[in-house]
Amino acid sequence: MNLTWVNVKAFIPRLPLSPVSDRYTFGMPVNTSPPITQSVIPITDLRRGDGLPIPKMRETSGGTSVQDQRGRQLRDLRISVTDRCNFRCTYCMPKEVFDNNYRYLPHSEVLSFEEITRVARIAVTQGVTKIRLTGGEPLMRRGIEDLVAMLAAIPGIDLTLTTNGSALKAKAGALKAAGLNRLTVSLDSLDDKVFRAMNDVDFPVAKVLAAIDAANAAGFEQIKINMVVKRGVNDHQIIDMAKFFKPAPGTLGNIVRFIEFMDVGSTNGWQMGDVVPSQEVVNRIHAALPCEPANPNHVGEVAKRWKYLDGAGEFGVISSVTAAFCGTCTRARLSTDGFLYTCLFAQHGYDLKSLLRRGEDDTLIAKAIGGIWQARQDNYSEVRTAETARQRKIEMSFIGG
Ligand code: SAM
Ligand code: SF4
Ligand code: SF4
Repeated sequence: MNLTWVNVKAFIPRLPLSPVSDRYTFGMPVNTSPPITQSVIPITDLRRGDGLPIPKMRETSGGTSVQDQRGRQLRDLRISVTDRCNFRCTYCMPKEVFDNNYRYLPHSEVLSFEEITRVARIAVTQGVTKIRLTGGEPLMRRGIEDLVAMLAAIPGIDLTLTTNGSALKAKAGALKAAGLNRLTVSLDSLDDKVFRAMNDVDFPVAKVLAAIDAANAAGFEQIKINMVVKRGVNDHQIIDMAKFFKPAPGTLGNIVRFIEFMDVGSTNGWQMGDVVPSQEVVNRIHAALPCEPANPNHVGEVAKRWKYLDGAGEFGVISSVTAAFCGTCTRARLSTDGFLYTCLFAQHGYDLKSLLRRGEDDTLIAKAIGGIWQARQDNYSEVRTAETARQRKIEMSFIGG
């Protein structure tokens, strides 16, 4: 892809000038590592373009599943149903970048529910058994419960959804009725002041807590709570979060997963010093609530499980930065505009939407997905360096977290 460069001051008049924004990696060309600068930004949007050439699928012998170059099978599909969100979490969609000038995808480029369901159905033939709806904020997509119903009708699919919880109270019943059984709610703090600052739109924590109550009452299986931990911002909330969601003996409660702040996308100003290593999270919780490691529920589980020694409940840690789990990564991602990405930290994807819209049949699309997966080599988190962290990558809100 040829990138054209312009002076950012001519391009974005309201350039952030705070010390934090100085760290944003505006203008990082792919595969080179000039110093971080805010003075240039590529005109060419990484979301556009033709996508990578789709590799030809090799035959698999007698019922063997599709494997990538590192022997990993395709199991999970994360689907971003919208690139829009009503929050501006500072680590994901910072206000300074995702402002009124930001160009979201036009309606015509967004996959329809029928297109999403078709890709999902075909992906199942290539080994996918688990689908997560995400975004952006998936509950902002109008009629999301209709999509849930369409996907829930695919046999053999374990369907789940990740939400910021802001619209969940109103939607929990409809989502459950549509066939969604599992749910993850993101919640970074119980402290209202900290929560409002982190979502950066002054959204009150009480509303998310009420939504979690509503979802628990609607009968979802044990709801998971995602907390992204940033040093000096919300790490003082770790124990409070663990205690708050620890179930009373004999009840299920909710499972908090403490996530290391990651260098996803190119706009969140990531620095290693902001990361609280999962081991430190575990040590801090253990000192207050003694715990021990628990066996994984399945191979490739992203969160490492820890159970409390008093027998009531568990929590998880997701250590994408300090203990990479690429070796068991079975996840592909379908972006809002129908590109398939084989890594959260990808710089390019494969254009499935064009195949769908030019009327290719299911067999060809299945072979495209199979071929893409077979060619996959990704292990970004295993080889992350300060330099790779600065590379220009697809934003998480677009590719799906
Ligand atoms: N809007 C929904 C939400 O927040 O739950 C779904 C999309 S969001 C991109 C999916 C998950 O990614 C959330 O749990 C969020 O906290 C997490 N996330 C976003 N940016 C992150 C980052 N830089 N590091 C770690 N996790 C991040
Ligand atoms: Fe929105 Fe979720 Fe990103 Fe926060 S983490 S800005 S809620 S997409
Ligand atoms: Fe999977 Fe890429 Fe994350 Fe490694 S860095 S676990 S390959 S998504």
